[in-house]
Amino acid sequence: MKKKMIIIGGGISGIYLSILLKKYLDMDVVVLEANDKPLKKLLATGNGRCNLSNKNLDKSHYDGEIKPWVNDIIHDFDIVEALKDIGLYTKYMGNLLYPYSESAKAVQTLFLNRAEEYGVKIICDEEVLAIKKMKQGYFIHASHKDYQADYVTISCGTPAGKLSGIKDRRTLFNSLKVDYRPMRPTITQLITTPAYKKLKGVRMKGEFTLNGHTEKGELLFTDYG
Ligand SMILES: Cc1cc2nc3c(=O)[nH]c(=O)nc-3n(C[C@H](O)[C@H](O)[C@H](O)COP(=O)(O)OP(=O)(O)OC[C@H]3O[C@@H](n4cnc5c(N)ncnc54)[C@H](O)[C@@H]3O)c2cc1C
Repeated sequence: MKKKMIIIGGGISGIYLSILLKKYLDMDVVVLEANDKPLKKLLATGNGRCNLSNKNLDKSHYDGEIKPWVNDIIHDFDIVEALKDIGLYTKYMGNLLYPYSESAKAVQTLFLNRAEEYGVKIICDEEVLAIKKMKQGYFIHASHKDYQADYVTISCGTPAGKLSGIKDRRTLFNSLKVDYRPMRPTITQLITTPAYKKLKGVRMKGEFTLNGHTEKGELLFTDYG
């Protein structure tokens, strides 16, 4: 009998994994998604054009406990080839990698079509509330139904952009008795007083210092800061 994997979260990480599990391991795969549609956050990336990656991937851009693993993840993975393998052709524009279509909507459609072709079952409006480890496999308690699986992947993403169907991730992790630390925003806008509304949309390259911390990059003015 095929082994069954339940993936919690139909963001890009969950959907991509579901395709790989079907394509390479022929597993029985079910994705449970709290939102009414999968891949909502993907649509917001690159302002709707879907910025997929950056040529300048380097360990120095990462911080925290993940640092020791970063090299293994970013250097052993050829994203251009991996995406081509599932039919998504890409191009670099400067350092930024985009789909040929420059459309996040087209990328959403491609991933969902691939998942459907391979027979991934995606169930929406289904929030997972608790996971319990059984003698064999896992018991998954969700808002409409309970499920059982040999394996579970948690790919619940983060609250960034407020595009997730859920507010609280802690309860889910607590139910499995795994350590959970609160998430904090790392890239966020700054609200200023005054806000120079006439500069809205203007971008400036340079070196910027705030509270003694300097970053090189691009500054974008908005109508709030
Ligand atoms: C405005 C914005 C712009 C961005 N621009 C870029 C960009 O240009 N380039 C780039 O590389 N990245 C960008 N990102 C980041 C990128 O979108 C994310 O890193 C990526 O989408 C994360 O994918 P994920 O699958 O890990 O998580 P998510 O996309 O967050 O997906 C997780 C899914 O899990 C679901 N879920 C959570 N908990 C449960 C539960 N208990 N039960 C069921 N379902 C659950 C959520 O509803 C969600 O759909 C941007 C993000 C935002 C918000």
